[in-house]
Amino acid sequence: MLADVIIIGAGPAGLFAAHEISSKSKLSVLIIDMGREMDKRACPAMETGTCIRCEPCHIMCGVGGAGGMSSGTLNLRHDIGGDLSEMAKGTAKAQKLVEEVDAIFLEHGAPREVYGVESEEIERLTRRAAAAGVRFIPIPQRHIGSEYLPDVVNSLKKKLEKQGVKFMLNTRVEQVRKGEVLIKGKRVRAKYILAAPGRVGAVWFAEQARALGIKLTHGAIDVGVRVEVPAVVMEPVIRVSRDPKFHIITKTFDDFIRTFCVNFQGYVMEERYDDYVGVNGHSLRARKSTNANFAFLTRVELTQPVTDTTAYGRSIAYLATTIGGGRPLLQRLGDLRRGRRSTWQRIERGHVRPTLRSVTPGDISMALPGRIVTNILEGLERLDAVVPGVASDSTLLYAPEVKLYAMKIATDEHMETSVPGLFVAGDGAGLSRGIITAAATGVLAARGILHKAHRPTR
Ligand SMILES: Cc1cc2nc3c(=O)[nH]c(=O)nc-3n(C[C@H](O)[C@H](O)[C@H](O)COP(=O)(O)OP(=O)(O)OC[C@H]3O[C@@H](n4cnc5c(N)ncnc54)[C@H](O)[C@@H]3O)c2cc1C
Repeated sequence: MLADVIIIGAGPAGLFAAHEISSKSKLSVLIIDMGREMDKRACPAMETGTCIRCEPCHIMCGVGGAGGMSSGTLNLRHDIGGDLSEMAKGTAKAQKLVEEVDAIFLEHGAPREVYGVESEEIERLTRRAAAAGVRFIPIPQRHIGSEYLPDVVNSLKKKLEKQGVKFMLNTRVEQVRKGEVLIKGKRVRAKYILAAPGRVGAVWFAEQARALGIKLTHGAIDVGVRVEVPAVVMEPVIRVSRDPKFHIITKTFDDFIRTFCVNFQGYVMEERYDDYVGVNGHSLRARKSTNANFAFLTRVELTQPVTDTTAYGRSIAYLATTIGGGRPLLQRLGDLRRGRRSTWQRIERGHVRPTLRSVTPGDISMALPGRIVTNILEGLERLDAVVPGVASDSTLLYAPEVKLYAMKIATDEHMETSVPGLFVAGDGAGLSRGIITAAATGVLAARGILHKAHRPTR
């Protein structure tokens, strides 16, 4: 046995779980991750915009996890990036947990400033949005920044090592079994196993869970487009909130649609999956565009007898990829409104220069379900009352942007699965969708392990 506790994944969930266990007990902890040290992670796509599919992916894997190379925006609300209130047993306890996690980020060098706290500007924006039937979600946010995030992650890792935590990097866990994991065909035993494999390990872990007889359920997915507008259009709201979140209930279908992942002066990028392409957005350190982009996504839930949201989301993405000839689709909002496809000529006549060029100008209404297209059209009209110019004819829409989340792993209140000694945390278990919430579920799982370890044996 190499350790009392094996943690799979050095993302926020794994690191914060290790922090809790090593600060409060003498249990030995080993973190295993298939990625590299923070300082050895380097993604070519962040400089060039082109993904060359490194294996494992530097963006998603390694110390710091999926957010390790991001701008490290900490959403300091328990109901953003998942909802902690049920797991933490109440909203007050959930918010306290967020503050505990935030305090650890501060201890390791996160900047003190918090944006998005109550101010007159926020109140004005909230009122303006409400008058247009849009909900603006003010979120206190701490921005670590991509240039400082590696220092914060390294500082936390150093503290963990001082507290005795061991790291085994560049190592893939092949299988999870009762009381042991398999690495390069060899069995490694532990009293407790905490699986925190993130989105990148979600499909793999769902297979492990199924094989172990653990119950899993499909959650909601998000389907829509990436919207690109001139940066000046978004500037007034960006001044109030760096990643403004607007929630809308659409008129025709009563659906929930929201803005997500706003990149001011950023770029739209292609994401390649095994059988489809998708889009996303990012900001580059070295290069700024004159545009802003954000995801505009409808929440899709399915009820009995068909609940497989993942298969549904993939089939939408697959259809969009077929219509786009293997590339993302690009359409001007004006063309979508008029029921005609976009062409390069029509796009060049507009005011917005696309930041992603490896696309196929076409017709999004041939790719996305009519319900989603209606939501996009109605939602942008409504948003235009809050962010004037966002629904101009020149606005660009890239499709598909599909957010599939991990299947939710069933646990008890201590985050322990039906396999004794196997605990789960973070995005890979369908419990979170953000740095703070993932870290918080890691702390909860660690407390579950400590509870079990210190329980008197009968
Ligand atoms: C580009 C990008 C930017 C983001 N920006 C933000 C942001 O600004 N704010 C925010 O709140 N959220 C952000 N997120 C989301 C956030 O990063 C995740 O929600 C969070 O990292 C999830 O934490 P986690 O610990 O659950 O999993 P992850 O961070 O995904 O970590 C999982 C780790 O497990 C390892 N692993 C998986 N399977 C195995 C295996 N079989 N064997 C060994 N190791 C394995 C992986 O290598 C990985 O390092 C961003 C995500 C991305 C991709």
